[in-house]
Amino acid sequence: MMKKPRGVADILPGEVERWQYLEGIIRELARTYGYQEIRTPVFEFTELFQRGVGEETDIVAKEMYSFPDRRGRSLSLRPEGTAPVVRAFVENNLHTWPQPVKLYYVGPMFRYDRPQAGRWRQFHQFGAEAFGSADPALDTEVIALLMDFYAGAGLKGLTLELNSVGCPECRRELVVALRTYFSSRQEDLCRNCRERLERNPLRLLDCKEEGCRSLAAKAPVPLAFLCARCAAHFAAVKEGLAAYGINYTVNPHLVRGLDYYTGTAFEVLVPEIGAQSAIGGGGRYDNLVEACGGPPVPGVGFAVGLERTLLALQQQGAGLPQAPQLEVFVVAAGEGVTGKVFEVLRLLRKAGIAADRDYLGRGLKGQLKQAHRRGVQRVIILGEEELQRGNVAVRAMDTGEQVEVAETELIAWLKMQRA
Ligand code: AMP
Repeated sequence: MMKKPRGVADILPGEVERWQYLEGIIRELARTYGYQEIRTPVFEFTELFQRGVGEETDIVAKEMYSFPDRRGRSLSLRPEGTAPVVRAFVENNLHTWPQPVKLYYVGPMFRYDRPQAGRWRQFHQFGAEAFGSADPALDTEVIALLMDFYAGAGLKGLTLELNSVGCPECRRELVVALRTYFSSRQEDLCRNCRERLERNPLRLLDCKEEGCRSLAAKAPVPLAFLCARCAAHFAAVKEGLAAYGINYTVNPHLVRGLDYYTGTAFEVLVPEIGAQSAIGGGGRYDNLVEACGGPPVPGVGFAVGLERTLLALQQQGAGLPQAPQLEVFVVAAGEGVTGKVFEVLRLLRKAGIAADRDYLGRGLKGQLKQAHRRGVQRVIILGEEELQRGNVAVRAMDTGEQVEVAETELIAWLKMQRA
């Protein structure tokens, strides 16, 4: 038997309705907030992520699916959505559009990580990115959109953690302080962190190794090094959230696993899903567009993990939509009327009624059994005698009650029963 690789999933009928449900919420929210959908390719040049996300991040250093194409250029399956959207923004000159340009995406991302509950190698994200304004009100809007998504999906008990990781100016002093702090404790760092201490000490705050984590918990925090502009920006974001009625806790130790953040950083946690409790996160990235070869255009955005959102909804016992029901089954009572089945089916389907028939040459009894298995409410039985009278028989599956309805009245009659 052929099996799928580890860490990927089939989404079967019965489950796909939940995805469609989330996608429906996303599209409606995006519409009301004025975000337009963008679809970027699933693979990009590897260099985009090296430059955009950062070579020292776990995502790029350890988790990318990279491969040479037939001409030897390195391509990577996208591990996240922001860098591709930024690339598309630059490549398509979206800075010439009325600003801010507000975009959203939904799609699969790929990370070679150890699969476990809530952690997949192919997973799906809903993300939003707003370009062209450094106004803290836009940070607030993006967070409001994120929290409205969870609320719309019916998730409860979320924690929004907020921080500011500062701009390159704040970072100059922070980096010095971090190097000093970690250098004197090098023996407790993992090999990777010892190596990146010189190049990118901020990454040490995000290491998953136990030794590094306990050191990071006492390390100097970015908030203590904010320049006046970043401090004012952070204060305005907090005020904005309060005005929106969005609760948050400031977590000075929050750093995101991607290098591009400047200023605001946030993460949303939900306790029910265990170790992988982060269901979304984001922040401001005012230098990313320029780093990807574009003009200096600020940006802010987030990404939500949809698998984890669904997992949390299930854990919380939220009612999720079921597979849509077939409404009627059309059966032929006798060989002579099989040609008529299609005609009736066509009428029903054109009228928006979910209808089906047998395709395995079953007899009347077998067709009725099939109708039962398919869970329809009604069966339309085409019999020669009834058809001669211009009628069809309609049987209610729950009561077994059968009535004759004029063929010309069938659609109207069924629609009336529905209401
Ligand atoms: P990140 O950009 O790494 O912060 O990811 C944003 C969100 O995507 C996280 O909060 C998770 O909900 C989700 N996510 C990240 N990695 C995975 C994964 N391997 N499997 C499932 N969801 C993930």
